[in-house]
Amino acid sequence: MALVPYEDQLRAVTKDVIKINEPLANHTTFGIGGPADALVCPKDMATTVRILSVAAGHDIPCHILGRGSNLLVADSGVRGLVVKTTDVAWHPPLQPIAGLSNQYEVGGGVPISVLLAHCLKKQLTGLEPLTGIPGTLGGAIAMNAGTQNGTVSEVVERVCAFDLTDGTLRQFSRTACEFGYRSSRFLQGHRLVVLSAQLHLGPADRDDIATYMREQVLTRRASQPWRSRSAGSVFRNPPGDSAGRLIEKAGWKGCRVGGAEVSLEHANFIVNVGHASAADVMTLIRRIKASIKRQFGVELELELRIWGADAP
Ligand SMILES: Cc1cc2nc3c(=O)[nH]c(=O)nc-3n(C[C@H](O)[C@H](O)[C@H](O)COP(=O)(O)OP(=O)(O)OC[C@H]3O[C@@H](n4cnc5c(N)ncnc54)[C@H](O)[C@@H]3O)c2cc1C
Repeated sequence: MALVPYEDQLRAVTKDVIKINEPLANHTTFGIGGPADALVCPKDMATTVRILSVAAGHDIPCHILGRGSNLLVADSGVRGLVVKTTDVAWHPPLQPIAGLSNQYEVGGGVPISVLLAHCLKKQLTGLEPLTGIPGTLGGAIAMNAGTQNGTVSEVVERVCAFDLTDGTLRQFSRTACEFGYRSSRFLQGHRLVVLSAQLHLGPADRDDIATYMREQVLTRRASQPWRSRSAGSVFRNPPGDSAGRLIEKAGWKGCRVGGAEVSLEHANFIVNVGHASAADVMTLIRRIKASIKRQFGVELELELRIWGADAP
């Protein structure tokens, strides 16, 4: 008997394991999150498209998961289907596009760390500002991930996405991606799934790339809780200021609710110091937001994505 109403339709299009009531804590860097009704990790692009077509055709609520490195999933989990992209095969990670120099096609599920290692090997520049970001290319494009040295949008030429609204494959130019500060059109409404992207990467000296990456890693390690379980920055930086500076000034470093703690290393990170629940994190978020509004008159906005519950 099918455990979720659409299980038979999914089994008809994939041999990959469909996990029922799978705890999403196992799939997020926070290590927090209740179950998904169903989770599937397709192994290739054709299967991914077939699964997404089933979701589109049967109007199944569908969430796309990369490395789960920017996510807080509610303790009650999420209803419907979660499609995780990290197992989708894509070899080699950077596929040269015939007839277009310096252009490469990359799958949405490829981890940024794998791409960077390949860039170093092939002496290609452009993605180094993303050094140390623990997500996938698709997650990075959806979030327009980056640092003050640059964002992924700067190397994206075109994105191929699946539209869950009507089950079609669509192409988006860089302009049509509507990239903004930690945002893109792929985050709006969660109806567009980044399947692959065409990246523009220039030639560079291997030693220069390696030096740059090493410096980025050292800077990160000196300023962020890289050994702890977190989901990166909790809040976006307000215009002209830094969320971490305001939170630290308000005295939040080290404050705890249950197993969730404001990092001692960087005040804009909340870390799971042991068995934190999503409710613990959300309580901390609400309290910080209220205190920053009261003390500085600044309305902090979330950078972290929240699934399965209303944002605080
Ligand atoms: C220690 C640490 C440091 C970090 N440092 C940085 C940093 O310096 N800069 C920065 O920008 N971020 C940083 N992050 C946050 C995070 O790594 C990035 O936002 C990353 O790009 C998210 O990728 P992901 O694959 O983990 O996405 P997920 O967390 O799995 O998903 C994030 C959002 O993107 C959507 N999504 C994921 N894949 C796709 C897809 N293929 N198509 C459509 N939508 C998709 C999801 O539905 C969700 O809404 C950090 C996180 C950690 C834990």
